[in-house]
Parts: sequence; structure tokens; C-alpha cells
Amino acid sequence: MGLGISSNSKNKIHSVELPENISIGPALTGLANAYLTKLTAGKRVLLVRGLRSYESMIGAVFGLKTIELVVSRPPALDEALELAENISRTYRRAIKAIVSIGGGSVIDMGKVLGKQLEIPTVSIPTTLSHDGIASPRASLTSRAGPVSQESKVPRAVFVDLQVAASSPHRLIASGFGDTIAKRTAVLDWKLAAERGIEEYGDYSGALAELSASHVLSAVKEIASGQIFGLRVLAEALVNSGIAMAIAGSSRPASGSEHLFAHAVQIISPGKGLHGELCGLGTIMMSELHGIDWEMIRDSLAEVGAPTKATQLGLSPDEVIEALLLAPKIRDRYTILSQGLSRAEAEALARKTGVI
Ligand SMILES: [Zn+2]
Repeated sequence: MGLGISSNSKNKIHSVELPENISIGPALTGLANAYLTKLTAGKRVLLVRGLRSYESMIGAVFGLKTIELVVSRPPALDEALELAENISRTYRRAIKAIVSIGGGSVIDMGKVLGKQLEIPTVSIPTTLSHDGIASPRASLTSRAGPVSQESKVPRAVFVDLQVAASSPHRLIASGFGDTIAKRTAVLDWKLAAERGIEEYGDYSGALAELSASHVLSAVKEIASGQIFGLRVLAEALVNSGIAMAIAGSSRPASGSEHLFAHAVQIISPGKGLHGELCGLGTIMMSELHGIDWEMIRDSLAEVGAPTKATQLGLSPDEVIEALLLAPKIRDRYTILSQGLSRAEAEALARKTGVI
């Protein structure tokens, strides 16, 4: 039993930082603006934004004194840390909050800066492409490939469903893939616990699994882009971030399927979105775990997410290489840690139709 700390840290203090406000619904600009006006109390706001999608929520910072930072591509770790130092030197005492309005890269940059500068951050995502909305981790790039950086859990999250509904459907399907990935991530965590390698956190594990079952209960509504479906997806993504915040790591939300996705990004950068690759990984890892992989595949297909490597321009060899590289990426016990031979990796990808 436990919230999710590992067994070798029983005597350590486990602190959980959570958002104080999570708002999900239509037409949230006014609510976000009122919250930020109160939070900043006349001081300045660092507005982290993308190139376009922020415009739909710009009213959230109406009347506030802003310093703008434009993020137009996935941020590199060293750039983010250098930027934090520069901001700290120039503006530290003048900035009361960081507000991130945009897609995944924008939200991630805001959370990393929030951690480095120790300033409250507010996430206003304009897409639902992955579960970084409310999590304490940020996905950044580095010369060695993608890195997961500790970051600030947002003080508040505002998910405007009308804005999310106007984002490309591909991003919504990607968010669905990142969410069903929790099913195999939790099974990997339980497996590590069975082997005595880690303690399983019942509470955060159950929360993460709930995210997966929540979206699987609303496949039709998510597929058709209905506001109800987007609400379910937004709730599931926020919930997954909360599970990570409670566990104090990405363990509840990221298992073998994520390792596969990261491996593809190292081998073939730029092919496929994070959640799309997690979706492919979840199909294959479901088969390894002995659960209903065909249901996972069919749900992804119904939502419009890829179920075959060719849909993302990936060759069979790239998929097989990624399956072999995945367990070597980080020290996290998953079903892939048991070791797949090249022939077994190919057989798995072929059986599940990924290649
Ligand atoms: Zn993810």
C-alpha cells in the first residue's frame, strides 16, 4: 500500500504539490482572467505562448502587465535552463506568475521555467495532445534525444473545451493515445512490484488506470469531436498529471509503451506525435501483457489515431529497432526488461499489425 513512493525511500518525506484550481469547460477566458488578476495583484506576468493558437485565449491576460516569450518548437533543455537564468537576472522580482497559453511545447516550457524561477505557473492549453497539462514533468529535447525534466506542477489549469474543439483532430487523437497508454504503464508498474523491484502505489496507480478507462468509455464521443468527448479526454489528461504529482514521478503514466515511443523519437526524430507513438506502443505492449490488444487497436482506429507504423512513415525495421532500444533508454523495469530477441520483436509487431 502507499501513494507511490519506492520502497527504498520509506524514511524520506514525501511531499505532494497539486494544482489549487482546475477548470474544464466552455468559454473560460473570463474565469482565467479573474484568477490571474487576483494572483498577480498588479505585478507582471511572464506570458509563454505559441505562434497562433494562443490568440483564442489571449483574453485571459487582458489588463495584465505581460512580458512575452514565444515558443515555436519543442524546447531544448539547455536553452530552457539558460533562459531561466537570464529571466532570473533581469526580471525575477518583477514577475509574479508564469502563464502558458498554447500547445504541449508551450505548456512544458512554462512548467520548466516555473520550477527554475520558483514562480507559480498557470497552464492554459489550447490542445489536448498529451498529459503534460497538469503534470510535474516536461518533455524537452537534447542532443541525446528527448528528456523528461522535473518541472512545476501548475498552480491552476484552465482547459477551454471550445478552443480544444477547434484544434486539429490529429492532436485530440494523439491525446487519446497518450491516455490509453496508462493501461500498460500501470501493468508495468505492477510487474516491477511483483518482482520486488519497486513498491506499487495503489492510489496513483488506480488514478492513472482510471484515466485510461475514462477515455475508453467515451470513444465515440471523442472520435466525433463532441464537447462531451473532449471533456472526458481533458479530465483524463489532467487526472494522469495528478497521478504523477501524487507518485512524485512519471511511473503511473509511463511504462514500456512510452519507452517504445521515446525510442522511435531517438531513432527517427520527427516521425509521429508523442501520443500517436504511445498508441502504437500500447497495442504491442498490451499483447505482451496478455490483455485485449485488439480492443486497444480498434479504439485507436475509431478515434482516428494511427494503428500501423506506415501511417507515420515508419518502416518495419525502425519499429523493430525501437522495440530493442526501448528497455535500454532508462532504468525503469517494464515488460520489455525481460528481453525481446529481434525475431520476437518482429513477431510482436507483425502479430499486432503495427508492421
Ligand atoms: Zn505521455
